[in-house]
Amino acid sequence: MAPNVLRNIPSVNELLESPPLRGLVERVNRNVVVSGVRSFLDNLRGDLQSVTDFRVPTPTELAETIASWILAGEEPPLRPVINATGVLLHTGLGRAPLAEEAVAAMVEVSRGYASVELDLKSGERSQRIVAVEKLLCQVTGAEAAVVVNNNAGATLLALTALGLGREIIVSRGQLIEIGGSYRLPDIMTASGARLREVGTTNKTRIADFANAIGEQTAAMMRVHTSNYVVCGFTEQPTLEELVVLGRDKNLPVIDDIGSGALIDFAEFGLKGEPIASQSVATGADLVLFSGDKLLGGPQCGVVVGKRRWVDRLSKHPLTRALRVDKVTLAGLAATLRLYQDPAKAREAVPLLALLGTSMENLHLRAERIAQKLAVVPGVRSAAVQEGTTFLGGGSIPTQQIGTWCVAIEPQSASVDLFANSLRAGMPAVVGRIQQGKLLLDLRSVLPRQDIELSDAVETVTRNL
Ligand SMILES: *Cc1c(COP(=O)(O)O)cnc(C)c1O
Repeated sequence: MAPNVLRNIPSVNELLESPPLRGLVERVNRNVVVSGVRSFLDNLRGDLQSVTDFRVPTPTELAETIASWILAGEEPPLRPVINATGVLLHTGLGRAPLAEEAVAAMVEVSRGYASVELDLKSGERSQRIVAVEKLLCQVTGAEAAVVVNNNAGATLLALTALGLGREIIVSRGQLIEIGGSYRLPDIMTASGARLREVGTTNKTRIADFANAIGEQTAAMMRVHTSNYVVCGFTEQPTLEELVVLGRDKNLPVIDDIGSGALIDFAEFGLKGEPIASQSVATGADLVLFSGDKLLGGPQCGVVVGKRRWVDRLSKHPLTRALRVDKVTLAGLAATLRLYQDPAKAREAVPLLALLGTSMENLHLRAERIAQKLAVVPGVRSAAVQEGTTFLGGGSIPTQQIGTWCVAIEPQSASVDLFANSLRAGMPAVVGRIQQGKLLLDLRSVLPRQDIELSDAVETVTRNL
């Protein structure tokens, strides 16, 4: 590299005086701009060490590049996304959107102080769970409840509190991996309980559980195989059989139902998802589930069940380590209150509203968006397309959900570039690519986002 190339790079002060960066100082903090210019120049000098042929840009060109680089870095990495993937419980997109009632309750307790551990009637100290325990018992029929950070935390807590140094019996066919490094055998190891696997991959009988019970047994566990199905020549003991056996041997039965459906999802055409209240009614001692899957609330892990066993969990030090804050408690309580009237929940809990949206409604909205986009410069074609999607988030992997999409082909840019630009835009839009077209799937788009969605596509295609 010619040594004068480095010398030709403008100084930090020179660059700060240039119009693009002077303008930026007025929009963002001066310190941010100064340190941004410094680190950009450091990177540039570093890159130039390995380059032989390089034209130093003019100070204005360089300043413009630096200004947009700094601006891009100032965009918060965590920001709202319009989910046009069709996948309703997308873990990468934060799972369930919250009900307005939940959002309002969360905002309200966030702004100031709240009665988190204070009983306002008596002035005495209380447990933070009181705020939601009554509601959880109401909607599930359980005697007691505890709430922690997520279902992985709930599982860890239950296994440690009940099984430390002892054995917990689980069927081989239910040793799940949820993704994001959640593997039941690993959680078991971390909990200090010993996993006692029984049966085979496809067949486990209640006799396998009965034969494995011994001095060391602390509990029996059933795990809902949320994200896979074993079909064909298969058998698993029913929860009822486990409960009967548990009563006979005086052993608790833990039921990890996963998604935490509070109503029957068969009404949306999704079969086989366990319902929390049914599990409680069947007699499981502890029922574990996520707050942000089918329940449609904030991220948390819920344990409901018999008072005797729930108390064992609440008194364990891990409960303190995994506890949720006032914001989560307020959001969960407000969501649960909606379920007191299931008809209200179907309207107000966004996940249920999205699932319950009719095909006619999706078709109509897709047509409206497609018509608007078809005439936008930069769009070669925009047309409605019927399709199928999935619930996602490790729930019900084999059952398809009907949907309508807008399929878009950009005029000259590649569909990949189009999808990338939409994703990086404001608002960020995530769709799915299929057969050379970008599909915007309306099953996971909230109706109030339709206009924002088509505006975002318009902005991006104009600049492609
Ligand atoms: C999703 C799931 C988990 C993990 O729950 P998180 O809330 O993601 O921690 C555990 N068990 C089952 C059966 C699940 O479906």
